[in-house]
Amino acid sequence: MTNSNPFAMAQQQLDMAAKKLGLEPAIHEFLRWPMKELTVSLPVKMDDGSTKIFHGFRIQYNTARGPAKGGIRWHPAETIDTVRALAAWMTWKTSVVDLPLGGGKGGIPCNPKELSEGEKERLSRAYIRAIWETIGVRQDVPAPDVYTTPQIMAWMMDEYETIVGERHPGVITGKPLAVGGSAGRTDATSRGGVYVVREAAKTLNIDLKGGTMAVQGFGNAGQYAALLGQEILGLKLIAASDSKGGVYCEKGIDPEALVKYKLQTDTLQGFPGTDPISNDDLLELEVTVLFPSALEQVITEKNADKVKCRIMCELANGPTTPEADDILYQNNVFVLPDFLANAGGVTVSYFEQVQGAYNFFWDLKEIHWRLDQKMTNAFESVYAMSQREKINMRQAAYLVSVARVAEACRLRGWV
Ligand code: NAD
Repeated sequence: MTNSNPFAMAQQQLDMAAKKLGLEPAIHEFLRWPMKELTVSLPVKMDDGSTKIFHGFRIQYNTARGPAKGGIRWHPAETIDTVRALAAWMTWKTSVVDLPLGGGKGGIPCNPKELSEGEKERLSRAYIRAIWETIGVRQDVPAPDVYTTPQIMAWMMDEYETIVGERHPGVITGKPLAVGGSAGRTDATSRGGVYVVREAAKTLNIDLKGGTMAVQGFGNAGQYAALLGQEILGLKLIAASDSKGGVYCEKGIDPEALVKYKLQTDTLQGFPGTDPISNDDLLELEVTVLFPSALEQVITEKNADKVKCRIMCELANGPTTPEADDILYQNNVFVLPDFLANAGGVTVSYFEQVQGAYNFFWDLKEIHWRLDQKMTNAFESVYAMSQREKINMRQAAYLVSVARVAEACRLRGWV
C-alpha cells in the first residue's frame, strides 16, 4: 500500500475503509476527492525592492460535519497533492474525535528560513487577501502547521478582520494568548496522547505506574510526552532522541532536566548520567510505552518485528508503514494510530475557535477536563470497533471516522 504520492496513499486508506464499511459507490467516490480547492497567486514586495510571486493553496476536503479545519504549511516541498492528503487526514481526524468540523489544509511552497519578518508578514497578508472569502468561523478555520507560527496566525487574523471590518477571533486558531489564543494549546497534542495511553492501559490491564517510556523526537510533541508521561501516567523515561542522536539510562532520566539541557545545548548528547543510543536502537527498547514523535516511516517491515513496547502512541504523523502495522498487530503491540493519538492539538484548536466565537475564555482546568472527555470517548469508540471487527486500531479509527462523515453526507442528501 505504501505510495510516494501522499494523496494516492490517502485515497488507498479510504478505499480500505469504504470496502470494509460497504459504502455505496457514490459516497465512496465523493469522499475520494476534495470538495473545494483554491489555488492563488500572491505578489509580495520583497525587502530588496523586487516583487516575488508566490503560489498558495487552500483545500476544503469535506465539510459535511461542519466548517473545514486545518493548518497552513509553508514548506519548499509543498504540493497540491500533499495539501490534499493532509486535508483528507484532517477530515478523518476531526471526525474520530467527534468534533463538529470538517477537514481542510492550506499551503504555500516557500522556504520561510529565507524570508525576513517583514516579508513573512506581507506574505501572510497577501494569502488572506486571496482566500478571505472562502474562510471564516462558519466556513473554514485555518491554524499553524509546519513552519507557520502564532505570530503568523496573528497577522492573518488581523488582515481578515481589517477586510471584513469586524473582530473575528475564531477565524484562525493557534494565535498568541494576547490576541485570542487558548490556554492549554502548547501541550495539547501530547496531553491528548497521554490520555489515550491511560485509557489503553486500563483496557489492556497494564499497570503504568513504575512502567517505562522511550521518546523518539524530543521537540514540542516529544518533550511534553516525556513530561506528562511522568506526571500523569507515572512512567519512567529511559531513553529520548532527536535528529543528532539519543540518550539512554535504565535507572531513569529526569524529563524536566533533559528539556532544560536541550534548551541550553541544542542537543541531548552528553546529558549527565546517560549513555548514547541510536535512533534505531531506541525504537527496539523493551518499554511499556513508545512515543514516536519525530518523522514519518520510521517503523517499517525491516524493524517492526524488533519493536518490543506494549503500547505505541504515534504522536508523529505516519511513523508506521502499513506492512509494519500488520507485524505489530500480530506481535501484540498495541498501536494508538496517529490521527487518534495526536488529535489533542486540533481538539484544543477547536476549543479556541469556540471560545473566540463566544468571546469568553475558559481556564486551564476546564480545557484539560474537556480534552480528556473528547480523547477518552474517541478511544472507546475506536477500541469498540477494533474488537467488533477484529481489526487493528488504525483500521478501526478509519472505519469510525469515515462512517461518521458518510452518514453526514447521506443525511444532507448529498449522495
Ligand atoms: P518539532 O520540530 O518541535 O520536533 C521534532 C523533533 O524531532 C526535533 O527534536 C528533531 O530534532 C527530531 N528529529 C528530527 N529528525 C529526527 C530523526 N531522524 N530521529 C529522531 N528525531 C528526529 O515538531 P513537533 O511539533 O514536535 O512535531 C513532531 C511530529 O508530531 C510531526 O510528525 C508532527 O506532524 C506531529 N504532530 C505535532 C503536533 C503538534 O501540536 N506539535 C500535532 C500533530 C502532529
